[in-house]
Amino acid sequence: MQTKELICSESLPNKISLPNKGRLIVLSGPSGVGKGTLVGSILKRVPNLFYSTSATTRLARPGERDKVDYFFKTKEEFKKDVSAGAFLEWAKVYDDYYGTPLRPIVAALKGGAIVILEIDVQGAMQVKEQLADEAVYIFIAPPSVDELRRRLGERNTEEAAQIDQRLDTAIRELQYKEEYDKVIVNDDLDKAADQLAEALVAARR
Ligand code: 5GP
Repeated sequence: MQTKELICSESLPNKISLPNKGRLIVLSGPSGVGKGTLVGSILKRVPNLFYSTSATTRLARPGERDKVDYFFKTKEEFKKDVSAGAFLEWAKVYDDYYGTPLRPIVAALKGGAIVILEIDVQGAMQVKEQLADEAVYIFIAPPSVDELRRRLGERNTEEAAQIDQRLDTAIRELQYKEEYDKVIVNDDLDKAADQLAEALVAARR
């Protein structure tokens, strides 16, 4: 796991209290496990679902759109947002910074939404520290590391060295899966999507 180099975590808001409505869902799982596809496939099935758009300093991949896939930021902009307490959590993932904007989440929860944060394990552990069982933590696991390697290769968005880096991180992330309330193995997309949709509906209060 990378250490935070940009700015220290003291810049996070001190104590966050979220509306006592809706439900925050923290979804993690290694790169290439299919989190995006899974969430996409249940978006229409679960009413009042809000998918949190993260901020990142990484460059947009072909086809990615600013403010839709991510809020793409420079490191300076990101640092300013951290100082302003704009993130629920943030972390350095690979060589870039990623953070969850707080304000849209609060607004969505006030409206009773199920709010999905698709964030890495470091970010998830920060949320857990802040909010404990106010949120529900779900880990999406691959059927095996070999299968994950195959999927990352097929995705064609990373160079070979990046794939190796992502696999190393994946192996470390898998060690955290016991910290989550539920582990869903994404072997069969339809089955995994059913399990995820069920977990979200059950989490609603
Ligand atoms: P990618 O660059 O492939 O879109 O995402 C890389 C990793 O960053 C993924 O594991 C993803 O879950 C994580 N990530 C995306 N947004 C956030 C965020 O706001 N906070 C944290 N901590 N991780 C994030």
